[in-house]
Amino acid sequence: MLLVGDNPASQVYVRNKIKACEETGFKSVLEQYPASLTEAELLQRVKALNLDASIHGILVQLPLPVHIDAQKVIEAISPAKDVDGFHVASAGALMVGQPGFWPCTPYGCMKMLESIGYTLRGKHAVVIGRSNIVGKPMALMLLHQHATVTICHSSTADLGQITRQADVLIAAVGKQNLVTADMVKPGAVVIDVGMNRNAEGKLCGDVDYEGVKQVAGWITPVPGGVGPMTITMLLMNTLKAAEHALPHA
Ligand code: NAP
Repeated sequence: MLLVGDNPASQVYVRNKIKACEETGFKSVLEQYPASLTEAELLQRVKALNLDASIHGILVQLPLPVHIDAQKVIEAISPAKDVDGFHVASAGALMVGQPGFWPCTPYGCMKMLESIGYTLRGKHAVVIGRSNIVGKPMALMLLHQHATVTICHSSTADLGQITRQADVLIAAVGKQNLVTADMVKPGAVVIDVGMNRNAEGKLCGDVDYEGVKQVAGWITPVPGGVGPMTITMLLMNTLKAAEHALPHA
């Protein structure tokens, strides 16, 4: 894990990932650098880790300081060690349905749907958010499972009119209380990816949990929902990377 700078949220995320590694017996190595690290220095570290046979997965914690081009750094990671699934090769593999590393957050959402035995074929899934790390890969994964998928974003007109059609509603925006009970179809599965701080500084999602849980069939809480699943899928991707690195794998 490469952590650059002192973003407090990033420090918490990295700490949680290290804890999950300790609990499950994965070896984790944290390389922490000051925000003054140059892009060239970071690229050099990534390239060294690509060649290090004792490392199976490389994770660069985002966001990076503004003087570093995050995409350039991600593209420097060997696709065989891209356990976050952000490399363009991983994104391409997901797009065409080839084996590869799936981004951990949407992958975790798929695992949650699987865990309740939910059949996506023929269902309408609505994803709010179209980022490369959550919204877009989420939509592709749902599509691969034969859902009819609608992607909403900040220019979507009448969001509620679309979300009310959703059998599965996934909110990945970063806005507290964006999804309210009147926007949800009765019985729908609601997955809240959002991570926000409310006025009291407490962690909350994009969904008005108390209101929406009266309407939804299933709903994930924040904290304690998608977040832990993201870390779990990171471990899963890392295990897969390690298995592929084995001779004769
Ligand atoms: P992002 O890159 O900022 O993308 C947010 C998306 O929301 C954009 O596509 C944006 O549309 C859309 N949006 C903004 N306002 C909207 C509105 N009023 N109505 C509909 N769509 C709107 O964020 P991200 O990286 O995808 O993350 C989204 C949220 O998930 C954040 O809260 C983040 O902290 C959280 N997250 C959680 C985990 C976890 O493990 N639980 C992991 C990753 C992210 P445009 O494209 O038009 O701007």
